[in-house]
Amino acid sequence: MRPRAVPAGSFDEKRKQYVSTKILKAIIEEVPDDAGKVLGVIDEDLCIPILTFVFGEAQLGGVGAVVALARLRQEFHGLDPDEPLFLERLHKECLHELGHAYGLIHCHHPECVMYLSNTVFDVDRKGRTMCGACSDILLARTKRSSS
Ligand SMILES: [Zn+2]
Ligand SMILES: [Zn+2]
Repeated sequence: MRPRAVPAGSFDEKRKQYVSTKILKAIIEEVPDDAGKVLGVIDEDLCIPILTFVFGEAQLGGVGAVVALARLRQEFHGLDPDEPLFLERLHKECLHELGHAYGLIHCHHPECVMYLSNTVFDVDRKGRTMCGACSDILLARTKRSSS
């Protein structure tokens, strides 16, 4: 895990958020040769033009993904800090974005980690693992890419 500076020009002054796509682009530009996938974690809030915020973003079937920490914290929502809950949410969102990087799309099983989360309530409601169907796809993809 290598810390790096937040890329210059990725802050949107009007929205007071970082532009997810620019962060992801910077992550992808510096992928180490021996990396399978690269997951960036930013301790800020991310957005894309058409959405008020995103928990993360990934290149579908690509190498890079990013997860934003700000909204996963209870403090962001005016509540008392809850470290275990924060880490549980982080686990789910990291797995979710990496799933996208492995080519998985959103899953319709509400308990699957690949289920689309629009709010932290959605994140909390879904499970921390992939459903059978998503796991099978992931297994097939990782087998193929390592052979
Ligand atoms: Zn997603
Ligand atoms: Zn699934």
